[in-house]
Amino acid sequence: MAEECIFCKIIAGELPGEIVDSDERTVAFMDINPATPGHALVVPRAHSTDLMDIADEDLEATIVAARRLARRIEAALDPDGFNILNACRPAAWQTVFHFHLHVIPRYEDDPLKLPWIPRGAEEGQIAAVAEKIRAAGA
Ligand code: AMP
Ligand code: ZN
Repeated sequence: MAEECIFCKIIAGELPGEIVDSDERTVAFMDINPATPGHALVVPRAHSTDLMDIADEDLEATIVAARRLARRIEAALDPDGFNILNACRPAAWQTVFHFHLHVIPRYEDDPLKLPWIPRGAEEGQIAAVAEKIRAAGA
């Protein structure tokens, strides 16, 4: 458990949380500022800061738990779809530094919008970036 981590405190029962699912490695609880009705978070019990830091076993357990939760939300709330979202680091909107997956039920009439505008790329740009990524190896 990391000192001062609010998600570690929710897992430990030291802060309130509306827990909706849990297993050996993960806990799921409702987001305090829901983007849509049913918005929940799935976290590993073991503290890790973000996507770059989390152990493979916890990452696997967390995505499996996210799908289990999505199925449960589907049964309970009958949404029209889901977004599973992770924010890694502040530039990507991360505000709580204990790895988590957002499970966001989507409804045809909800107000959420795609956060980028598809606008193509200059000729050769995608291939050039792909080559850089391949060259970086594993
Ligand atoms: P992110 O910005 O991706 O790091 O997501 C952090 C999420 O945690 C936000 O959607 C917050 O609304 C949510 N959050 C912050 N504090 C709490 C809390 N005490 N209980 C439940 N959700 C929280
Ligand atoms: Zn933590």
